[in-house]
Parts: sequence; C-alpha cells; structure tokens
Amino acid sequence: MNIEQYVRDIKDFPKEGIIFKDITPLLNNAKARKEVLKKFIENLPDVKIDKVIGVESRGFFFGILLAEALGAGFVPVRKKGKLPFETLSASYDLEYGTDALEIHTDAIAKGENVLIHDDVLATGGTIKAVTELVEKLGGKIVQVNFLMELEFLNGKDQIKAYDKYFMLQY
Ligand code: AMP
Repeated sequence: MNIEQYVRDIKDFPKEGIIFKDITPLLNNAKARKEVLKKFIENLPDVKIDKVIGVESRGFFFGILLAEALGAGFVPVRKKGKLPFETLSASYDLEYGTDALEIHTDAIAKGENVLIHDDVLATGGTIKAVTELVEKLGGKIVQVNFLMELEFLNGKDQIKAYDKYFMLQY
C-alpha cells in the first residue's frame, strides 16, 4: 500500500510559506490506518514498552493506537496550561512560533521504557522538548517515531541520541 497518497499537502497553512502535511485522509481510511499501525509495530525495538507518549495534538492519534496495540500506558504531552495536575514544563521552538510543552509529573516512573510518537518531524524543537521532559522523569527512551520527516529541516540533529523511525520522508 502507498501510504503517501493519504497525506495531503496544503500550501500556505497555517501561514504563507508552510506546506502543511495533512494526515486527515489517512485517519479517515481504516485500511491505511491499520497498515500504518502495523508498520510502526514492525519497526519497534524488541523491548517491552511501558508508556507511549503522544505529542499534542496530531501525535495523539497513532499514539493511542500504538499504546493499545502494545498494552502500554498512554501519556499526552500538551501545550502549556492544558494539563490539570502537577506538571513539568519545557519550552521549544516551532517551524511557526514558540511555545512550551508539559507532562504530568506522575505520568512516567523512573526506569520505564518509553516510546515517543508524533506525526511530523520538522525543525525538531518540539521533539527535543519532549525528550527532555521524559528524561527528567527518569524514562528510558526506546524509540522516537514519526509518520514523516521533513528532511530538509534537519530535525534529526535534535534527537541524535535515540533510535528513530520515520515512515515517510520528504
Ligand atoms: P518542529 O518542532 O519544527 O519539529 O515541528 C513539529 C511539530 O509541528 C509537530 O508536532 C507537527 O505536528 C507540527 N508541524 C511542523 N511542521 C509541519 C508541517 N509542515 N505539516 C504538519 N505539521 C507540522
């Protein structure tokens, strides 16, 4: 199956100069979604995963499916001010702006094996902040995976230390 055909390019969204990678056609197709989940699972390191981290908000979709398939807990990393309990915070740069991300302090126990998932790796600012949060809580990052990498933005440089998997590269 050609998964690429379920990712739609939207020019100049959310602002001029950005080509937004829209994954809603993929989410809308049960067969394609199933295939993507299968591929993610096939490309994981052979260790038990305790927690799957999904990055707000498009990392939640396959994050929760992965957690379900792996029998792991699911942990949302959210934009500042959205999580109600005690949080850890890390600031980050985005391809279009800056912000802070937060995680609940009780979401990961020291030594737990953690898989981090998001839809797109662009400049890598977001994912760097997420890895900082996970490591501050004592989680062991077993893989960072994405539906796609925008290679020309060199986001990979921000996550050199970790096992990585990208299903698609642009
Ligand atoms: P970055 O921190 O630059 O790696 O940006 C990654 C985050 O921004 C991810 O959570 C993506 O969902 C989102 N993002 C950045 N660029 C794009 C893009 N061109 N299309 C869709 N999402 C994007």
